[in-house]
Amino acid sequence: FAKLTYNEVIDDKGLKRVLTKDEYPRANATLLTLVRNQELKDIVHTIRQIESTWNHNFHYPYTFISDEQFTEEFKQTVTRHASGDVFFEIIPPEIWNKPKNIDPEKEKAGIKKLEDNGVQYAALESYHNMCRFNSGYFYRLEGLKKFKWYWRFEPKTDYYCSVNYDIFKFMEDNDKTYGFTISLYDDPLTVETLWPVTMEFVKKNPQYVNPNGAFKWLTDSIQNPEYTKKANGYSTCHFWSNFEIGNMDFYRGEAYSKWMDALEENGGFYYERWGDAPVHSVGVGLFEDKSKVHWFRDIGYHHSPYKSIPNSDKCSAPEDSGYFAPKDVYSQNCLSNWVKYEM
Ligand code: GDP
Ligand code: MN
Repeated sequence: FAKLTYNEVIDDKGLKRVLTKDEYPRANATLLTLVRNQELKDIVHTIRQIESTWNHNFHYPYTFISDEQFTEEFKQTVTRHASGDVFFEIIPPEIWNKPKNIDPEKEKAGIKKLEDNGVQYAALESYHNMCRFNSGYFYRLEGLKKFKWYWRFEPKTDYYCSVNYDIFKFMEDNDKTYGFTISLYDDPLTVETLWPVTMEFVKKNPQYVNPNGAFKWLTDSIQNPEYTKKANGYSTCHFWSNFEIGNMDFYRGEAYSKWMDALEENGGFYYERWGDAPVHSVGVGLFEDKSKVHWFRDIGYHHSPYKSIPNSDKCSAPEDSGYFAPKDVYSQNCLSNWVKYEM
């Protein structure tokens, strides 16, 4: 017999067959996206790829989140393309909107500094809201409480490789907390004080630091010293979070929650432009055992302008294969540091 995959059984007649949606015992997990009505076409583009490369065998549910009501057209269209159940969740304004403790003058000065240095989205308040929400709030939503695992995806991204095992069960069976495909440097200006603020928290709460954290990856100053200097000790290396798979119970735990409170008190989501990618990465890197982080080298992925495509006959990509966009020779790629220091 060929080895059975997670979703296959041998039936009475000795024939191999794939379990149906109702038969298959899924992990407690959801595919998850924060998305706007006007991105309908682009989200369908990505759902189709997630379905055809993976979910058509497992039928995991989808959760669509937004700060505004979804239109009927949006709901009906995504439902048609999903092979699993679909849930829609609206973010209460008191969670989505800028919190009261943000000082408008300080915010204005921060935005100006970012804009003068060409930082994208600096003045777009909804972008700051989005980064803050994805950093510390999505897993607290009423509709997300019932789930443990999430796979975040975004409109207009591509999935190139067929994967025939249950990725969520892989995470569970191998005791993983967080999975990624691409690791990048960030613009240091967007996270200038994230590290000092975090170090202050850690000094007061040393018990939260995992002795086997990914410290070298977070603080390396050999590969890209300018960045580490500008970000005050943080290498700016992060897992690119537009694709990520994680255990939300990690974020719900004491270490990450208390740290999030400290970040909120500081206000750097608005005075700077702290992204959810560096925030997740610093949190995971400090408070979790690095052996619980998994690099999915078998998932071919693209979010403009970067991609990671395994050289495998399971993948069909429109351009050259490679773990990274070949044009980026002097690149934002930080994966080699992860491999060198933490694997
Ligand atoms: P980038 O990848 O950093 O350039 O940011 P994106 O524009 O792709 O935004 C990241 C994710 O958040 C995408 O899935 C967007 O659809 C979503 N998003 C960004 N801003 C908003 C917003 O104001 N409302 C909603 N509902 N989704 C948003
Ligand atoms: Mn994006």
